[in-house]
Amino acid sequence: MLKKEKVLIIDDSKLNIQLLNSILEDEYEVYFATNGRKGLEIAELNLPDIVLLDVVMPDMDGFEVIGEFKKNSELKDIPIIFITSLGADEDEQKGFESGAVDYISKPFRPEIAKVRIRNHLLLKRQRDLLFSMAIHDQLTNLFNRRYLYEFLEKEWFRSVRSQKALSVILADIDFFKKYNDTYGHQMGDQCLVRVASVLRQSIKRPMDIAARYGGEEFILVLPETGMPGAEHTGQSIIKKLHEIKIPHEASDILPYVTMSMGITTMVPRRDVSFEEIVKKADNNLYRAKEKGRNCLVKDDLPF
Ligand code: GH3
Ligand code: MG
Ligand code: MG
Repeated sequence: MLKKEKVLIIDDSKLNIQLLNSILEDEYEVYFATNGRKGLEIAELNLPDIVLLDVVMPDMDGFEVIGEFKKNSELKDIPIIFITSLGADEDEQKGFESGAVDYISKPFRPEIAKVRIRNHLLLKRQRDLLFSMAIHDQLTNLFNRRYLYEFLEKEWFRSVRSQKALSVILADIDFFKKYNDTYGHQMGDQCLVRVASVLRQSIKRPMDIAARYGGEEFILVLPETGMPGAEHTGQSIIKKLHEIKIPHEASDILPYVTMSMGITTMVPRRDVSFEEIVKKADNNLYRAKEKGRNCLVKDDLPF
């Protein structure tokens, strides 16, 4: 069964919470809080799909609460519906300006409120799906090249400030053209999916990403990681491929799929383009192919 979506109600009136809960509990997982502080805590912990927020509350009012949501990168995209007995137009306007997606005024007809909540959840699901499709590769579900560049640029400038090393591994399947010629394009696609899953498993830290760079080329970005860490990750991929042995009888090296890798580590500088790190990794990859494939080549000189 699909997981129920999470609705968070923040309202100082327990009666209101009960009313909303009674119309929503069958369909959703309902959380509630009777003040803004508590609501924010619950939101951070459970990341609700939508928030129903009372405007008039003691201590923090709804406008302050929504302000806190918008300041928090984890919470800022959660749709918020204001629920209030305030009918004043200016409050409604202020509500929308502060980022609410809708405004339901009390007293409301439960069925209408329910439909509006359902519509906003549908919109959010569609938006999330579009966003996810825009940053992932359809075949392997790794990040795509567009996201890679966005991520790399961000990490590059973060590392300029922190002066921490950033590593990149560019990995390319050996003799993949022959693989397609032997087994067909469809099997080729399946092979890419299996290789992608090896790469996904090889990254252990939450900040690392694996992306599909192009056809049978992949890239790992390892923030705050020096050459020893990057080399270890690269070797673990080579080892894993030797363990799972995806058959490749046409390969000139071994009867199973192997990869060549170029690894590079840089301490980013402001006056150097972030694309430089990919270029360096690409040069090293070229050298790994020259060396006979199924191996990794790292920078000659430590940075
Ligand atoms: P090398 O060891 O030098 O890397 O040789 P290679 O054959 O792997 O490299 P080459 O660049 O000559 O060929 C890459 C092949 O990858 C050719 C192309 O048809 C195939 N390819 C690229 N994208 C896809 C894809 O999405 N699916 C499949 N099945 N094949 C792909
Ligand atoms: Mg190749
Ligand atoms: Mg290639």
